[in-house]
Amino acid sequence: AKTLRLILGDQLNQKHSWFGEVDSDVTYLLMEMKQETGYVRHHIQKVVGFFLAMRHFADWLAAHGHQVVYYRLDDQANKQALTENIKSLIAEQGFGRFEYQLPDEYRLDQQLRDLSEELEVEVQACDSEHFLTERGFLKDFFKGKKTYLMETFYRAMRKQYNILMDGDEPLTGKWNYDHENRNKFKDPLLLIPPKVHHRDVTDIVALLEKMEVETIGKLDAKQFAWPVTRVESLGLVTYFCEKLLPYFGVYQDAMYTDDAFLFHSRLSFAMNAKILSPIEVVEQVEQYWYSHQDAISIAQVEGFIRQIIGWREYMRGVYWAKMPDYASLNFFDHQRKLPSYFWTGKTKMNCLKHAIGQSLDHAYAHHIQRLMVTGNFALLAGIHPDEVDAWYLGIYIDAIEWVEITNTRGMSQFADGGIVGTKPYVSSANYIDKMSNYCEGCFYKKNLIVGDKACPFNSLYWHFYARNEAQLAKNPRIGMAYRTLAKMKDKEAILKQAEYYLGNLEEL
Ligand code: FAD
Ligand code: SF4
Repeated sequence: AKTLRLILGDQLNQKHSWFGEVDSDVTYLLMEMKQETGYVRHHIQKVVGFFLAMRHFADWLAAHGHQVVYYRLDDQANKQALTENIKSLIAEQGFGRFEYQLPDEYRLDQQLRDLSEELEVEVQACDSEHFLTERGFLKDFFKGKKTYLMETFYRAMRKQYNILMDGDEPLTGKWNYDHENRNKFKDPLLLIPPKVHHRDVTDIVALLEKMEVETIGKLDAKQFAWPVTRVESLGLVTYFCEKLLPYFGVYQDAMYTDDAFLFHSRLSFAMNAKILSPIEVVEQVEQYWYSHQDAISIAQVEGFIRQIIGWREYMRGVYWAKMPDYASLNFFDHQRKLPSYFWTGKTKMNCLKHAIGQSLDHAYAHHIQRLMVTGNFALLAGIHPDEVDAWYLGIYIDAIEWVEITNTRGMSQFADGGIVGTKPYVSSANYIDKMSNYCEGCFYKKNLIVGDKACPFNSLYWHFYARNEAQLAKNPRIGMAYRTLAKMKDKEAILKQAEYYLGNLEEL
């Protein structure tokens, strides 16, 4: 039968078995749609990045002899919604069969399941052939457990895929080098510029304007920086190995005012759009390290590989194990709105100014900026997790719900009450100062807890513990904080300071 095969914007996997041979009965469908530009307000670089990557993918298919239907956002035939577009195409062109790859977003999964029931043609769904595990693997792996320990899963992946292994044992006898990877960055001479592209995207920017797509963030339309093809993405892996890997682990948690990227790979977009597969990235980095062990320590490589076959894969498993309920969890019952400086960067708090500012400029912040600056602040300030999720889902070029919500609502906001993490990631100025140079240039004083210039993180930190005592005091990993709080002489003044800040979040 004449077959229509759907390719979503984050399913740009050239290695998928679908494309192994050309079949004149098969047509591939890719669509730019208002449905996708509008489910949250996205960063302009994110919308441009996905459209560009999709267009290149469609060109690649056509160049290899496949039949392709591509809807641009302003095409006459485009009904701007997934279901409507597919239904009318099937009716108009007489397709007898519809196939799709299992999406990694609950919303789209639901739409496609509903559509499948509605359609009168044969429907088949298949795997996206991207991840190391199938959708339901993690749920079975942790059957009956309340907390899903990432480390246990990570070790199973190392073994199963034989990554950094010596038979059944981890290479060098140790699984995890996290403790060696916590340095502050101090030497500007070590800085290496990111590998950027300079693509002119004026036409897509004009298209978004014409179609009234509302976006956030900035973009120099003459210089779109992110890789959007497979060749460019593979080039970024090589660049990472040669230039950044030697310092990746050492400065993984560091934050620095003069460099938005430090030694991070910037590979999340290419992987999340499925242009690159996680296992090929990991194997390439592992191979590079095997031939450069004199120059690069294992802590750098292990740290990187753990993020991908550990955290990334694990988050995807948590998502499918816990959705749709996960999206409404709010363990602390937080209700506040995000202050407006999350969209402008205009705040006296230097750490937030930089973390937000570079997010608006580049659609990027690295993990510790997301977790310990913006995320930490949102949690201490008691912001509603829906507000926090919408911000993260919009602003980052790599933000797709399966990996955004598990990191944000789970790891960063502890709104799941401890499925992803064993305790909330909160800190006072102490941690931020230890890992960055932000506090040096700040209006607030990192050492003060009360007074006009007291760093807001300091009093809010204690207020967070005080107000959530009922939920947290029993947690064995937190007992110490409550013992300290109980002994504090100026506890009342500190909580009063925090109350003042909470009442005036917009002014900070
Ligand atoms: P590198 O530091 O070079 O790491 C290499 C790769 O490891 C990344 O490309 C990514 O694929 C993977 N990785 C690292 N940490 C994680 C993690 N915690 N979860 C999943 N994968 C990880 N990542 C996203 O891809 N999309 C998101 O929407 C997203 N939202 C986040 C929200 C919050 C609140 C937090 C704390 C983290 C979030 N992350 C998200 C994880 C992480 O911050 C990004 O993957 C990373 O910053 C991407 O930059 P990079 O490619 O330079 O990463
Ligand atoms: Fe951030 Fe406080 Fe440091 Fe200022 S003093 S940069 S607000 S942690």
